[in-house]
Amino acid sequence: MNWQPTDCHAHTTFSDGALTIAQVVERAASLNVLPSVADHISRDVARAVDSVEAARKYIDALEEYDVLRGGEFCWHDSLWRELPDDLVARFTHRLGSLHAIRLPSGDLVHAFSRRLPAVISPDEYMWAHLESLETLAREMPVDILSHPTLVTLPFRQLPTDELWTEEREERMVEALFAAGIAFEISNRYRPHERLVKRAIDRGVRISLGSDGHTLEQVADVAAPLGMARRLGVRDEDLYDPRRHGSKTTVRA
Ligand SMILES: [Zn+2]
Ligand SMILES: [Zn+2]
Repeated sequence: MNWQPTDCHAHTTFSDGALTIAQVVERAASLNVLPSVADHISRDVARAVDSVEAARKYIDALEEYDVLRGGEFCWHDSLWRELPDDLVARFTHRLGSLHAIRLPSGDLVHAFSRRLPAVISPDEYMWAHLESLETLAREMPVDILSHPTLVTLPFRQLPTDELWTEEREERMVEALFAAGIAFEISNRYRPHERLVKRAIDRGVRISLGSDGHTLEQVADVAAPLGMARRLGVRDEDLYDPRRHGSKTTVRA
């Protein structure tokens, strides 16, 4: 069979998506993409799978379909730490997200909040962002870092070069490489090419993610796939848990 891209990151009505699991599977098939569901599993997302029991029901439901069973976990929330091993092993892959970062003061800066908890400069924010990212990479047993360039709303419009200095890019890429975590090319929060190239050059695996919540968005990985190919990544090297394995199935 011909190779098909895998969308490692899509949402359903189990969290904040608009489609059912069946609709995600159908939409992906129509785009010749292998589907995953990776709903929010967190106590700090408005609509999410928000308990161990709910996560069990979510996986039960996914197992009824021919679909990869992912989950998107907030690093700053503790639910991912509470899932028992037998439940973790039923996920095909897991994504870690910096939906909030921790300032040196201990305050959290949420990615989707319009207000900062304190007066901080973009530079202070970005150093704290990198600290949080490195902690995520050290402590979170995930396969993919979701939308690696997502930053908090108040700073989202700043020029890329101001946010992502070469030193910060280096630190991100080293942390991902050391932890064996893939870099997601998100169709929703598109990374700049220099950073993706740096990750590829360091040997970090690349993952494609629509981060789709609607029919239009789910399984649309054309632009991320185009970028990966342009930067010389072979199709078969793009992250696919069936081919490359997952930390969910590796026992400590
Ligand atoms: Zn996310
Ligand atoms: Zn997402």
